[in-house]
Amino acid sequence: GATGVRLAEAGAELLPYQDATLPTRRRVRDLLGRMTLAEKIGQMAQAERADVAADPTIITELGLGSVLSGGGSVPTPNTAEAWADTVDRFQQAALETRLGIPLIYGVDAVHGHGNLLGATVFPHNIGLGATRNPALLEEIGHITAIETRASGPQWNFAPCLCVARDDRWGRTYESFGEDPRLVESLATVIDGLQGEPGQLDQPDRVLATAKHFAGDGLTDWDTGEGDYTLDQGISRVSRREFRRLALSPYPAAIDRHHVGSVMPSFSSVDWTEDGIGNPLKMHAHEELLTDVLKGEMGFEGFVISDWRAIHQIPGDLATQVTASVNAGVDMFMEPGSGTEPAFRELITTLTQVVEEGRVTEERIDDAVSRILTAKFELGLFEKPLTDRSLIDTIGSPAHRAVARDAVAQSQVLLRNEGRTLPLSSRESRVYVAGSNADNIGNQAGGWTLTWQGGSSNVIPGDTVLDAIEAQATRPVTFSEDASARVPRGADGVVVVGETPYAEGFGDVGGPEWAYDPADNGVPRPEQTMRLSEADQEAVRTVCDRAATCTVLVVSGRPMVIEPDLLRRIDALVASWLPGSEGRGVSDVLFGRKPFTGRLPVSWPRSVEQEPINVGDADYDPLFRYGFGRRTRP
Ligand code: BGC
Repeated sequence: GATGVRLAEAGAELLPYQDATLPTRRRVRDLLGRMTLAEKIGQMAQAERADVAADPTIITELGLGSVLSGGGSVPTPNTAEAWADTVDRFQQAALETRLGIPLIYGVDAVHGHGNLLGATVFPHNIGLGATRNPALLEEIGHITAIETRASGPQWNFAPCLCVARDDRWGRTYESFGEDPRLVESLATVIDGLQGEPGQLDQPDRVLATAKHFAGDGLTDWDTGEGDYTLDQGISRVSRREFRRLALSPYPAAIDRHHVGSVMPSFSSVDWTEDGIGNPLKMHAHEELLTDVLKGEMGFEGFVISDWRAIHQIPGDLATQVTASVNAGVDMFMEPGSGTEPAFRELITTLTQVVEEGRVTEERIDDAVSRILTAKFELGLFEKPLTDRSLIDTIGSPAHRAVARDAVAQSQVLLRNEGRTLPLSSRESRVYVAGSNADNIGNQAGGWTLTWQGGSSNVIPGDTVLDAIEAQATRPVTFSEDASARVPRGADGVVVVGETPYAEGFGDVGGPEWAYDPADNGVPRPEQTMRLSEADQEAVRTVCDRAATCTVLVVSGRPMVIEPDLLRRIDALVASWLPGSEGRGVSDVLFGRKPFTGRLPVSWPRSVEQEPINVGDADYDPLFRYGFGRRTRP
């Protein structure tokens, strides 16, 4: 039973770790001194919601330190109250442990709390990169924190500080862009999530995670081993280039923004040329995780592994656990695998390697101290259960107004022949077509209700079509495939783009996006970055018949616009993945707000130009990095 907690309830003298007036360091030291090895190792294990939902007593039994909701692992019904009930139920089980140590609950709220039905869904990071607006990012971080913590989770696996160098990568949209300085400048989102130092215990803040450390966006398409991958692949650049293109956003995240946790990347680095003889998985990279991150960069928070990522380290489980914990991993994301909960095996194995002396108790104490520090700073010992006072603000008009403004600022005007945009208040009809005009699931992208997202994932909000209908002061025709007659004199708006995806390559069709680097012989995925035939046809039909023709590209990366299409288009807009607030798009379309967004990535002419990045020799994109036409307010 929770002896300590009961003592406190009875008004008896508090133990030092229970005394909120003492400095965190003192409380951590006191608590650590009372813990058995089993209790310490339990803190280092993270289970998944689905593993413990049926019987949360396993949390008490093993003294689990954390639970997460993986992408799409949502309670039923998917309401804020049900989320908070779920988290609190698990928390009650954690409080039943001998020392009453609360657990921390993590979730991927990577564009707002997109897992929760009814939450405000912001543009994905690539669109936010186009805004170049650090203050806006801070505001978005704050709203995300409110909507997340009010529904239970106190920890967000965001932001991705990835620097996307090859647009075929399925996580390009999770990146603020291709330039590490741009990525660094938008790490202000961490301030919004966590608040100022000392504010983490407030009901409107969550612990942030800088991920994926490091080089997640700097991997090679051709592994040179008969395999093609980008996600979870290999960075083959020199140490110096790796610092410049992968590590450089992290010092600011740590020093200036005090990020509370860091997640290593699934990828590897290959410094063979430096005489190291790798590739070495980041989760086993002691030099980067310990010497650089915790040493040189002075990171004092904790390192949370990615999803079962340690199992990609060669060797048996004991080798994987030893290598990763000694490299600097402090907590293990070990969702269930098959019949036996993986976190139980992790705990058994970690205990064994400590007993064998392969991992020192000092290393365990360091890991646990880091985890406990975060829990004290989050105020979980004082207020372990969800403070629901802000639950009514989830998806509120005020929050949606910020998202709408973010959408408007993220729109990049790439072409505007004859000042087609903003659409003036002509008498004629607006003719809307294209696969992404009226599909809020496509508009929200991956990490929305489910891990991969989905075209049919309907969330409350406005599609681009809804928004145009609400704002146009003239009749609107919608015909997705442009089969309805296009009246001459109409203003055509064709909304094209991708369907949702997460990780891997994305939107390549079929199962070919499987990325297991060990699985040689995987056919090369056809990531063409091309528009679908149907979308191309809709552009041709509308552009050839309407008086003006505007094309909006709703996608997580640049898409190839063939010359014969480009020739026909009067106005071209990169709309990215705007999320729930389609009205941000119509605001700039109709001139309610100016276009100010600028490209966060280079826009290639053809997929053969990938990877293409500013500063390349022979740099010849269709639209260069930083490009974006402005319109007057
Ligand atoms: C992703 C991480 C994410 C984790 C938990 C992994 O597949 O790589 O970015 O935080 O899942 O959902």
